[in-house]
Amino acid sequence: MAKHFKRIETALIHEGEPEPRINGAVSMPIFQSSTFEYTGESSYHEVRYLRLNNSPNHIVLHKKLAALEGAESALVTASGMAAITTTLLTLLASGDHLLAQNCLYGGTHDFLTKDFASFGIAYDFIDAYDPASWESKLQPNTRALYVETMTNPLLEVADLKAVVEFAEKHDLVTMIDNTFASPINFRPAEWGFDISMHSCTKYLNGHTDIVAGAVIGRADLIEKIKHKLDHLGGTLDPHAAFLLHRGMKTLALRVRYQNESALRIAQFLERHPAVSRVNYPGLESHPAHTRARELFDGFSGMLSFELKGGADASQNLIRNVRLPIVAPSLGGVETLITRPSTTSHAGLSAEDRERLGISDGLIRLSVGIEATEDIIEDFEQALDAL
Ligand SMILES: *Cc1c(COP(=O)(O)O)cnc(C)c1O
Repeated sequence: MAKHFKRIETALIHEGEPEPRINGAVSMPIFQSSTFEYTGESSYHEVRYLRLNNSPNHIVLHKKLAALEGAESALVTASGMAAITTTLLTLLASGDHLLAQNCLYGGTHDFLTKDFASFGIAYDFIDAYDPASWESKLQPNTRALYVETMTNPLLEVADLKAVVEFAEKHDLVTMIDNTFASPINFRPAEWGFDISMHSCTKYLNGHTDIVAGAVIGRADLIEKIKHKLDHLGGTLDPHAAFLLHRGMKTLALRVRYQNESALRIAQFLERHPAVSRVNYPGLESHPAHTRARELFDGFSGMLSFELKGGADASQNLIRNVRLPIVAPSLGGVETLITRPSTTSHAGLSAEDRERLGISDGLIRLSVGIEATEDIIEDFEQALDAL
């Protein structure tokens, strides 16, 4: 009988592991096999073939991921975008309408604004800070509501309880991109969300060496999404599955340290005279701090900030820092620094960025697991040299 573990640290290590162990192996082996001997499978989706997302490396991850968020079921995918697009194309068909938060991950934003029309799917953006305004965007064909746990790069936190209540009232499926929080800080199923999605490229793997994704949630929906993924083909390769599995074991240790480190760095920056604004949900100055405290167990390793000297000062700061690596992406063990106006949000017009509150000088930091003091000392010298 499968063992279950109540606490997330233990679930990360033991949940879903094969019983008995395969030839006694303590660590899950890689099944580098595209096909498996027939043992009487009766439907196409059960045939044991790598694209059909059911190799032993997939199954162990599905069980573990579902357990981490206290959800019924889970599915791993080739990337975060494979998780998001496959889920959207499963839950929405031609003629349907989606309500989505107005500040989405760039790839998701592009998929809605550039690709939805060719599938005959309509959408409207909503201001997730203003639940009273959502009803006016509702249409008879609205099927789902899509939000992110924390937005990129401003770390805004929508009224997630209102999202679930509104969806229940209007019979909508709720989808949440939980990448920034990770299951350590937020578990959407516990708050009534139907589907949570991750770019496992980020915190879940944590080591900046693969791309991978996951969909976690209601078993009836995950089964439909699996069938769509079987057709669209965005399966996770066994070697990447092995690396994700290995990376996940230290998720609790990494994320808790990153939570703590990011809070101390945010507090340091907030006190520094050259800094004009810091966006971090763990700060009391954050507009949704009280809500974040209620919803989250931690505030993540992500923060963003602006300098009094504007875009030029930001450019100089990024040149002055020695420790953070100037690179997009996030959630790994290395501290990464970027200017969203030149990277993740470069595709938006200057007016759109302005409207979303993303100034040209805004700097985003993904805090790694280096010594917090080393990062703070580095920012201190870089800010003093401005
Ligand atoms: C990176 C990211 C994605 C996309 O994930 P990939 O693994 O790069 O496909 C989606 N949502 C968020 C919030 C992300 O940070």
